[in-house]
Amino acid sequence: MTDVLEVLEPATERLLQEVPRVGVAEVDAAVARAKAAYPGWRAVAPADRARLLRRVVEAMEGAWEELALLEARNAGKPIASARGEIGMAIETFRYFAGAPERPFGETIPVAGGMAFTVREPLGVVGLITPWNFPLAIACWKMAPALAAGNTVVLKPAELTPLTALRFASLALEAGLPEGVVNVVVGPGRTCGQRLVEHPDVAKIAFTGSTAVGVSIAAGAAATIKRVTLELGGKSANVVFADADVEAAARAAPGAVFDNAGQDCCARSRILVERSAVDEFLSHLEGAVRAIRVGDPLDAATEMGPLISAAQRDSVASFVDGDAEVAIRGSVPDGPGFWFPPTVLWPVPLDHRAVVDEIFGPVAVIVPFDGEADAIRIANDTIYGLSGSVWTRDGAKGLRVARALESGNLSINSNSSVRVTTPFGGFKQSGYGRELGPHATDAYTEVKTIFYNTEGN
Ligand code: NAD
Repeated sequence: MTDVLEVLEPATERLLQEVPRVGVAEVDAAVARAKAAYPGWRAVAPADRARLLRRVVEAMEGAWEELALLEARNAGKPIASARGEIGMAIETFRYFAGAPERPFGETIPVAGGMAFTVREPLGVVGLITPWNFPLAIACWKMAPALAAGNTVVLKPAELTPLTALRFASLALEAGLPEGVVNVVVGPGRTCGQRLVEHPDVAKIAFTGSTAVGVSIAAGAAATIKRVTLELGGKSANVVFADADVEAAARAAPGAVFDNAGQDCCARSRILVERSAVDEFLSHLEGAVRAIRVGDPLDAATEMGPLISAAQRDSVASFVDGDAEVAIRGSVPDGPGFWFPPTVLWPVPLDHRAVVDEIFGPVAVIVPFDGEADAIRIANDTIYGLSGSVWTRDGAKGLRVARALESGNLSINSNSSVRVTTPFGGFKQSGYGRELGPHATDAYTEVKTIFYNTEGN
């Protein structure tokens, strides 16, 4: 009997679709299909592989609205954001479609002949992804992996498997050979774990929580699998008194409440220079109250519900009375996993809301006194994924950005992610980089070949 997974719509709590939930045997079968497809895919001439990936781009463009609607309904994200995310997934494939044809070896002077390097694909790559940006994050991994000549088995989060499943059928329609892209929908503990342990999987590329990342790194060690980890965050939005404080305050809600705060890059610690706190809060209050929380399918909506009841309860546990609620937005009545945009201030520095990743629409205000203090507080975390610095002093902005222990910094902006620039974490936010010009490196091995020109 097939096990059935009920996929919900978080804005209504209603059933959206039922999909078969697979087990370990199906994971093994998917790995076997990927293994069988690998020699053929790796042998496809670079220009032909590029052409096929461009056909995937065209297929996704044709299904853009369909994918965006599916993502908006399944992940509860505003339709405008969902359209943007699918656009980014498409751009990711477009960017990496050129990779098979880019040169990437080196020649190295040696005695007795010539030495040069080539980059070889790894084989079958296991991709394990979260529910917050379901298709976009899957494409950050699939596009460079496929461009480099690997075949993939993708295990999306159980809460949001629909766009990954639709992608798999689009890829086939676009002409990717059978077995090159495989999607398995099942629990992390069994199916994810099996991918991590499977002897025929050469690498795991994972995005998710730091706790699961630890278990994946440990599990992968037994077979010396390559691993890249994109994990949690607790990023700082550092606002100096010499900044355009109003602009920083108006931009701050987007930096922490986008995707209802379920964003690894969320700047959930807003560090404000003490003399600017009152001015900052006065502008922030209006901006937070203006956030339109509601039906994800309404084009005017800016924030949707959380992904699940469990996530809502987890987020609610951070607002525990030990910190004052300074600003609280509003949410719709009725069903849906809603949680209002919330700003805590004042809040003790050892409060969970300051220390731990919340992954929901809750921000804390932390005052600081001068540059050194800002750097010390911002770096006082196990995480290091993103962050922002707001100041009119360009040199100070660069000094602070260099001093922050984090993989992605913005000055006078809160943007973190571009298809063309590397993305990834310092410290316990993970290791390895996705996107940007070197992302295919993470899906290849360097091979050195020596050609004897002198005879024996
Ligand atoms: P999660 O770690 O619970 O799950 C992520 C994926 O791992 C899911 O597909 C899940 O089924 C699978 N999984 C769970 N247990 C497993 C195991 N033992 N072995 C193998 N696979 C397993 O994370 P989530 O709740 O889906 O996503 C939220 C987390 O993801 C947050 O901590 C967030 O910060 C992080 N995240 C990080 C980034 C980034 O790029 N750094 C991006 C998005 C989300």
